Amino acid sequence: MKYDYLIVGAGLFGSVFAREMLKKNKTCLVIDKRSHFGGNCYTEKIEDINVHKYGAHIFHTSNKAVWEYVNQFANFNNYINSPIARYHNEIYNLPFNMNTFSKMWGVITPDEAKAKIESQKNTSIKEPQNLEEQAISLVGIDIYEKLIKHYTKKQWGRAPKELPAFIIKRLPLRFTYNNNYFNDTYQGIPVGGYSLLFENLLKGIDVQLNTDYFNNKPYFDDIAKKIIYTGPVDRYFDYCYGELEYRSLSFQTEILELENYQGNAVVNYTDDTVDFTRIIEHKHFEFGKQKKTVITKEFPKEWNTGDEPYYPVNNEKNTILLDKYTKLKEKEKNVYFGGRLAEYKYYDMHQVVENALNFAKKEELKL
Ligand code: FAD
Ligand code: UDP
Repeated sequence: MKYDYLIVGAGLFGSVFAREMLKKNKTCLVIDKRSHFGGNCYTEKIEDINVHKYGAHIFHTSNKAVWEYVNQFANFNNYINSPIARYHNEIYNLPFNMNTFSKMWGVITPDEAKAKIESQKNTSIKEPQNLEEQAISLVGIDIYEKLIKHYTKKQWGRAPKELPAFIIKRLPLRFTYNNNYFNDTYQGIPVGGYSLLFENLLKGIDVQLNTDYFNNKPYFDDIAKKIIYTGPVDRYFDYCYGELEYRSLSFQTEILELENYQGNAVVNYTDDTVDFTRIIEHKHFEFGKQKKTVITKEFPKEWNTGDEPYYPVNNEKNTILLDKYTKLKEKEKNVYFGGRLAEYKYYDMHQVVENALNFAKKEELKL
């Protein structure tokens, strides 16, 4: 056996795990079917601007150990995500906070905002059963109609009534004038882009790109003592129980001959006159002063076989399927599954780093 570990996937999980094993003098081969490392965090320089190729990636965490860990491999700037919502030609601050309420209703104080929301709630609903009920009970009907209803329908391809309530609970709701999209203690973007962070993470580790594990599985299974698999779990088992569903995205990127297109990194389009959900203007993640700008429109779409899987669809059908695959995973010898695709979970980056570090610690105990 040439290597201690074969790691399938040069995303965050695979790269962090490989780095930790290198520290213990273990040998790793990392393979990825894409032509680059970094997984969905990948950034590419266009017009001297770091473009987030798979959608906006903002690192945020309250876990000090995770923050200190990633800061070893890149300097993070002090970017704070404060998206703008555009409903036709009306502009609102996100997440839902006193700036949003004051613009929507002309209210000044938190008590006035709370009273307004209270007056718009359906008081007969005690336990919200779906996203629509949950949203209206949190922020009232006006905000639901203008900032949530159409955006959610575009994002998920389903009416908010048919979606689980928890999706909307990701967003902070505040009665302070604070536009920070996250509640976490630490937040930022790696200076020089995520690709630099991955370059440093993978320094000294063998990496083979444009290499699909399944094109030569027997060869790769023989090359290492253990396999860490971070690709889709259903693919690993040849879809024997059927395919897990995802929501996919298509990105349309343009270079514009102007310095500042929208004045903010992220603008959400919350009405139904356009099919995209948001426009990202990449330079603003790093306070760029370049002459040109690069923007990306994000179009959600139904996932079909062969499309990039982005968001797991956590409905009953997929949960049942996932349980079956989880049982198969437990039977595998010398193969370990990690990351958002192998676990079919919508993880943020900090959660993936934490999971990879915890997994590496467990492995170290076995060494
Ligand atoms: P991935 O990054 O998906 O890496 C898996 C790798 O495995 C891929 O490179 C893939 O090519 C490779 N692979 C799969 N199958 C094979 C195979 N058969 N052979 C070889 N290689 C294979 N998180 C945040 O914290 N903040 C954000 O702002 C944020 N924004 C996001 C926006 C979007 C649009 C999306 C989709 C995600 C966002 N995330 C964000 C989540 C973040 O992308 C993930 O948490 C993180 O990238 C997961 O890392 P991973 O290693 O588990 O998976
Ligand atoms: N959402 C919304 N309007 C917005 C932003 C978000 O209705 O302007 C809803 C939408 O249903 C979305 C959910 O809130 O799926 C979670 O938003 P988040 O920004 O966390 O989505 P992600 O980063 O996962 O794309």
